[in-house]
Amino acid sequence: MTAKIDLAGLELHELEQELVRLGHPKFHGRQIFQWIHKRGITDLALMTDLGREVRQQLSSEVEIHTPQVEGKERSIDGTTKLLLRLSDGKQIESVFIPDTPSQTFCISTQVGCAMKCAFCLTGRMGIDRNLTASEIAGQVRVLARELQMLDVRFNIVLMGMGEPLHNYEATMKALRILNDEHGLAISARRITLSTVGVLPALERLATEPVMPNLAISLHSTTEDQRDMLVPLNRKYGLKDLLDACRRFPVKRRERITFEYVMLNEVNDTPEDARRLVRLLHGIRGKVNLLPLNEAAGIPFDRPSDARVNQFARILADHGVTVSVRKSRGRDIRAACGQLITESKKTQAPGRRLASLMEQGA
Ligand code: SAH
Repeated sequence: MTAKIDLAGLELHELEQELVRLGHPKFHGRQIFQWIHKRGITDLALMTDLGREVRQQLSSEVEIHTPQVEGKERSIDGTTKLLLRLSDGKQIESVFIPDTPSQTFCISTQVGCAMKCAFCLTGRMGIDRNLTASEIAGQVRVLARELQMLDVRFNIVLMGMGEPLHNYEATMKALRILNDEHGLAISARRITLSTVGVLPALERLATEPVMPNLAISLHSTTEDQRDMLVPLNRKYGLKDLLDACRRFPVKRRERITFEYVMLNEVNDTPEDARRLVRLLHGIRGKVNLLPLNEAAGIPFDRPSDARVNQFARILADHGVTVSVRKSRGRDIRAACGQLITESKKTQAPGRRLASLMEQGA
């Protein structure tokens, strides 16, 4: 038996084709697309502008998947983390970060991650599987619904679990669905894709019609050290990555963000800062410093604010635009690099349940 097709993972033109294939008029495709992506309605019975017969017939022929909310935790700073369950029972996390100053949804692209960066908890999980386009776009729909933000402007960052350029097709398809004017119509300018630098995929990204802002997880200024911190560097090295960034078609008035996780006395010295200035010479970029979010099992320390400031000062003094990422949602383990799903967590189920109940979830 073949699985039913999931309409939530189809772009508008594919949905129209699918409806025609099933013997229905093409325009029903657009109606269904609007119900799912614009209004967040996935129950065919509620799609009242489709005839009853069409709805009945479709409900036996197709599926419309939406990740199910299994847990919801709210940080004292307002950051909200959703634990979502997929149709095969796998779990992922998605995060809402308010007032950065914009409203931001942080979305996952894989269950786990294969990149194994030395300081990242998600990397510890290893990779379980890729998310589908339906599951990637679905997280946005669920967050918008849960936070009552279907009509509010928000940004999307692909900075949750997973490496988006290691799941290229599904990620780009999800972005086209999110961008479609008949759905949420999220402009590519409001979407940021963060990557450790999967070079062939980065070259492809440069040719995409819906091209998000680019953030590069750089984290180091020498090949040897980056080999250790970001193992993919052994395949696609720092020099080649920066050359690809030099060639990347950065839109007018925009820049590539270079993320730099700061590990105490590892990559946070004044020499590192000066090397970073030299490396970024000639690239339209800015630096976002991420002081390490510490966690059990991560063999690095967070540097003092003084060290972070000293590093930032050297960049700024040399004309490099720099910001320090405020870590949000650390109390609920929703901060960068802390997303990891239940089976691998050390937190006892009882405690998690208690904290969910406190939130009234
Ligand atoms: N795989 C992509 C998307 C994840 S984005 C990427 O690596 O870019 C998440 C960002 O948080 C990345 O820059 C990642 O390196 C960073 N990060 C991971 N663990 C962290 C930690 N413990 N503290 C601070 N930042 C961390």
